[in-house]
Amino acid sequence: MSGKQCRDAGNRAIRCPLMTRIVDILGDQPTLSFEFFPPADEVAAKHLDETLNELTELAPSFVSVTCGVGGDGHDRTRDIVTDICRHRPFPAMAHLTCVGHTRQGVSGLLDDYAAAEVVNILALAGDPPDGSAISGDFHYASELVEVVRAHPAEFSVGVAAHPEVHPRSVNRASDRRHLAAKLDEADFAITQFFFDPADYTRLCNELADLGCHRPVIPGVMPVIWPKSIRRYAEMNGSTVPEPLFTDLEALSGPHRINAAAEAATELSQSLLNAGAPGIHLYTLNRSEVSIQIAELLRH
Ligand code: FAD
Repeated sequence: MSGKQCRDAGNRAIRCPLMTRIVDILGDQPTLSFEFFPPADEVAAKHLDETLNELTELAPSFVSVTCGVGGDGHDRTRDIVTDICRHRPFPAMAHLTCVGHTRQGVSGLLDDYAAAEVVNILALAGDPPDGSAISGDFHYASELVEVVRAHPAEFSVGVAAHPEVHPRSVNRASDRRHLAAKLDEADFAITQFFFDPADYTRLCNELADLGCHRPVIPGVMPVIWPKSIRRYAEMNGSTVPEPLFTDLEALSGPHRINAAAEAATELSQSLLNAGAPGIHLYTLNRSEVSIQIAELLRH
């Protein structure tokens, strides 16, 4: 076993994934990664632990953990990411938002990540709470990318991309210009969820037209909870395919999970066929649908 060693939950020696930089694994083979959010209480924490146990079997390329608004959200993300990196055989990336934060606060968090040897950061603007005005030392994710890049720890830096254009963008052209500039300073992007593969190819073509060729990993949302996902889509500006959502709303239990997995697999396969460097699944902290998608993609 090469590299630094860690111990998993069963005290077995595993190759320590702490120092695996995501930029170094993109391009070898299509990646499969999973996104989680910090659990709200102990019951949810236990559930996330079980989800991670089950998804470990799929040997994910990496996982990522979102952060809520405010300092407390960042601390929980830091603790979970550090714990995953120490005890699981795959790297974890920390989401880090800047809107509403001070430079000092962000620098302190980066120091914590560096001290814990966490090397992957997804640099995001975040959203001000309840649509309030943007406050703090930062306005845009690109300013956070600069701060992360300036840190001596040499983090691998990802950013967000919005295939259907970010809702705060003045227009499509300015969205793409700002994204290309942000991506030029970062290593890769992960997209907001969307349902039409043409939105992804159009985004990649528009970035290429601007001379930006960084890897863009599509984010895929399996529609296990159509009502909630409709609400998220409204906030993100993602177009909901009505026939799919209507069908899924009429189903429940395992029938809905199976249908959601099939639809997400079909979308993922089209994206991989179109040259996507991997698939990032929004798990909503559940394992069953991700396991089905991984199995379907293998066949
Ligand atoms: P930015 O890149 O700053 O872009 C925001 C808007 O500003 C865009 O319209 C852009 O065109 C415009 N813009 C950028 N630069 C400039 C400039 N110099 N001048 C003028 N306009 C500019 N949110 C969370 O709170 N926590 C999370 O963990 C989280 N994880 C996410 C993970 C992924 C993969 C994605 C896609 C989104 C995530 N989000 C998360 C949501 C994200 O924070 C919001 O969508 C936010 O509104 C925008 O973030 P951004 O990093 O794309 O912002």
